[in-house]
Amino acid sequence: MELGNIFRHLLVHNEAFVKSRDATKFFAYAKHQTPYITLVTCSDSRVQGEILGMDIFNKVFIIRNAGNQVAINRGSIEYSILVLGTPLMLVLGHTNCGAVKFATHACVTRSKEIVAMTKSFYSDLLRADHSVITPEIKAEMLPLMIPIERGIPHLSKLGDESRELAYLGQVNVDYQIEKALKYYGDRVKANKLTIIGGVYDFVGAYSKELGRILITNINGVTDVKGLQESARSIIKRIPNTDESSEGFKLVARLIEEKVIRI
Ligand SMILES: [Zn+2]
Repeated sequence: MELGNIFRHLLVHNEAFVKSRDATKFFAYAKHQTPYITLVTCSDSRVQGEILGMDIFNKVFIIRNAGNQVAINRGSIEYSILVLGTPLMLVLGHTNCGAVKFATHACVTRSKEIVAMTKSFYSDLLRADHSVITPEIKAEMLPLMIPIERGIPHLSKLGDESRELAYLGQVNVDYQIEKALKYYGDRVKANKLTIIGGVYDFVGAYSKELGRILITNINGVTDVKGLQESARSIIKRIPNTDESSEGFKLVARLIEEKVIRI
């Protein structure tokens, strides 16, 4: 889009937002914020707070960087967890992540063994123009090579490129949660914090339902049986849970469908 129009949108669309919003909504949180989710996600423009499907104002404290990394934004994360006291931290990766692709490219070009395992998308990565990558971009993305190297040996059985990239994103989320548990594990043990990992799927790598957030890690648990058990036990913490109600049955079905891994 041309710059003049982008700037016009900035002025006009914010004014539409101002007119659409009841002013009393702002009064409710004018002095303090009281979020209950710390969201660590990727800066990718295809991933936005709206995917949570709720009004996220004053509810979600969002930390974003390339590749949803924990170690590079600890100050902001700790403000949300320790100062604001959010009980849930969601580390959310996504399908077709450019940062994951970048780190994969870095691994592939560094290792002849990996090139020897070449599948189509590796050769595409090798052809990509990486000359515009500055030292600053590299410094922020290269830590992602650690999880990507862990994931690469498992790719051959996955079938297609979108599932391979989704899998690498999933392994990255596991790695970021490992880091978070190292820093905030005491808080998890004390039941003050639950760390959930997920992958936002807009390409259909996990299921045909585009736009789903799949839950792939809960407090470091990554086997599907253990994950689904953890998910059920979290739901059962809701006071007065009626397991025969329609609402509970829906959640039980969604756990079966969405608390899964590649
Ligand atoms: Zn991304």
